Amino acid sequence: MSHGATDFVGKPYKPQIILHRVASIIHLRETAAMINQFQYDQLTGIYSKEYFYQRVREFLRQNPGKRCDIICSDIENFKLINDVFGVAAGDQLLCGIAELYRKMTGHHGIYGRLNADQFVCLLMHDGDYTDEMFIGASEQVNALSNARSVVMKWGIYSVEDRNVSVEQMCDRALLAARSIKGQYGKYFAYYDDKLRDELLRQQGIIDSMEKALGEEQFLIYLQPKYRIRDDGLAGAEALIRWKHPDWGFQSPAEFIPLFEKNGFITKLDQYVWDKTCSYMWEWDDKGYPPVPISVNVSRADIYNEDIADILMQTVQKYGLSPSRLHLEITESAYTENPNQIIETVGYLRDLGFIIEMDDFGSGYSSLNMLNQMPIDILKLDMKFIQSETAKPMNQGVLQFIMELARWMHLGVVAEGVETREQLERLIETGCDYVQGYFYAKPMPEREFEELLKVQPAGEEAWNREKEEFENRYQSQVLLVADEDSGYRGRVQRAFSKYYQVVEAVDTGSALGYISIYKDRMGAVLLSNALPGGDSYCVLKAVKEEKGVWDLPVIVTGPPDIQYEQQALELGAADYADKPHSEESLWRRVLHAVKLASFQKRERDLQEEAYRDHMTGVLNRRGWEMAVRALEREDAPFAFYLFDLDNLKQINDTLGHIEGDRLIQEFSRVLRTRTRRTDILARYGGDEFMVIMKLMKSEKDILKKGEEICHAFSNIYFSDQLTVTASVGIAVWNAEDSAEEAIKRTDMALYRAKTNGKGGCYLWRE
Ligand code: C2E
Ligand code: CA
Ligand code: CA
Repeated sequence: MSHGATDFVGKPYKPQIILHRVASIIHLRETAAMINQFQYDQLTGIYSKEYFYQRVREFLRQNPGKRCDIICSDIENFKLINDVFGVAAGDQLLCGIAELYRKMTGHHGIYGRLNADQFVCLLMHDGDYTDEMFIGASEQVNALSNARSVVMKWGIYSVEDRNVSVEQMCDRALLAARSIKGQYGKYFAYYDDKLRDELLRQQGIIDSMEKALGEEQFLIYLQPKYRIRDDGLAGAEALIRWKHPDWGFQSPAEFIPLFEKNGFITKLDQYVWDKTCSYMWEWDDKGYPPVPISVNVSRADIYNEDIADILMQTVQKYGLSPSRLHLEITESAYTENPNQIIETVGYLRDLGFIIEMDDFGSGYSSLNMLNQMPIDILKLDMKFIQSETAKPMNQGVLQFIMELARWMHLGVVAEGVETREQLERLIETGCDYVQGYFYAKPMPEREFEELLKVQPAGEEAWNREKEEFENRYQSQVLLVADEDSGYRGRVQRAFSKYYQVVEAVDTGSALGYISIYKDRMGAVLLSNALPGGDSYCVLKAVKEEKGVWDLPVIVTGPPDIQYEQQALELGAADYADKPHSEESLWRRVLHAVKLASFQKRERDLQEEAYRDHMTGVLNRRGWEMAVRALEREDAPFAFYLFDLDNLKQINDTLGHIEGDRLIQEFSRVLRTRTRRTDILARYGGDEFMVIMKLMKSEKDILKKGEEICHAFSNIYFSDQLTVTASVGIAVWNAEDSAEEAIKRTDMALYRAKTNGKGGCYLWRE
């Protein structure tokens, strides 16, 4: 054995004993391999989190008197780097950082990887740390990545109290690092009493929030908005205040960000919306002018699927029209996830709520996106106003923004107006409304009511205002194609309040207008005796043209069954006998337009019915359709059933918003790591099914599964836990039923899970 044999078995052999010994040797090897895996981080080869903890514990025990520090690093924009440069580049960066730690710490300390992009080391205390040290380290890290924009923050915990667990020490160092997140020019921070108090205070806020809501400690203050044109009161913004019995008034700037993080904001905002509507109802009852009030809608609210229902129910509960409630949505929300925001906010706007883009000018909304955004009013950010009004007139962008707003038919509110100079400047540029200390500070509801009471001629100004908002629908075009100028004139008069009416005198100009106004065309009134050839050719052209085929066309002509039949067969929405009253024409148009919009909505719904709302991949129904449509030639298919291991835990500890984010992250990983032709579906809450076609080798099939799970565990990280996905895979040759294959993936997933989280298992008979 001293020459390297693994074992010595005496003869004569006893098969039973040999079997036993071989088995135990294999077992030993596997355990050793496992220990190895446990000790070292797979990606970077440095100590894993657990092993780092263990080593530090040992070190501290053996060196009770030594002063040392735990230093953690965290990359602020790692997710971005992963997204922009790819996971491989992200991995490479992480390996580079591990190398840096190796160089920095060497034999004098212990180092390891905590989480995705978080590293840690224990160093002997050797004087104070300086910015230069960390700037140097940052530079080295940036040299590693082609991004060259890695922002790293460092946190230091000086080990004094040895009763604190190593895990806690690392947590604290990380908290210190996180406390300077977003602070330019800050490279490192200590975990000290100040930070501790701050964190305790935050915890205190979180611990008392539910009780505060129940006890009505939250109050709503209203800050008036004024119309510049005539100095009239134009509404108000509802701002939350917290009057805590022991701490006194708390600033929303302090508690709102915490509530946005833990999800409580959705509850609080609904409370504000409800209270605000109840005030308006009360004022209406007292006969005050019906001013609108703006409420803040936090981004978490928009991701709430029920937001439209909740808002609708709130206004209906108090018998208000949705246009009384203005919704302020911060600019940065729009840039974060533009498509989803546009969809949800667009829907709210369709329901009649007035949408204000809050804090405009503070973020980076690109101006060319602006015309796609469903908004009615731009609310210029306070800082923007203050810096712009300080510049000479011709140097700022204020004038340009104002013109842009005009051109897009948006109202403009300036917030944070504090001085007469600022106000004068805003008047010059043509701003519509102002809100700021110069006029009034936020005030309790009773005080605001006093302002309302003394509002003169509110009604009239309000009607004008309302009309302006209704104008946005006016941009729809109604085409009247008719040979009779008297008839065209009557239509013009009857509909001009609701439509932009365009007149065509022959088939040629009718077709021309349809193609010019394609996107804005609401309905067509087509005479069957239009000069310039067969007037039904206009109808045919509409029905055959891709962009306008669902445009309602109402044919007009003499009472004649045959004409009518022909028109309807060609797809006319209606046939109106001439002569007719304005009233009856009006009804027919309304009916046709409504019907067309219902049909469109129905088609959209049908398409929606097969998609999972949250992730955009197929839902269970869509999946079943897709499986039925699989082509035999594309076999063999690999069926993957992914399951997120920690969703419940995340939901329970970090809240549902975070849980939803996890699900969306995963669908994104799936999308970037599959082909266009692959089928992706959300199969259940945290289960995803993927079918890949023409997958010939088991090796490739497995590799793909592992790749996805690996990418996911790398992309998503939270401080408290690492998240993983497990996958069960089965190959389907289209010989038995798809149900059988699904059953096999299910069993494979079960196996994967019993082998530990984050596993990958391919079913073999
Ligand atoms: P915001 O929506 O941008 O609100 C405007 C903030 O500017 C308010 O601060 C307001 O009091 C302040 N302000 C108004 N005029 C002036 C002025 O002339 N000068 C200065 N220096 N400040 C002015 P507040 O009430 O402290 O609110 C801070 C932020 O908290 C709000 O910013 C908003 O983001 C958030 N917030 C407040 N209430 C709610 C709420 O009910 N729901 C949500 N989701 N967020 C809220
Ligand atoms: Ca606001
Ligand atoms: Ca604002």
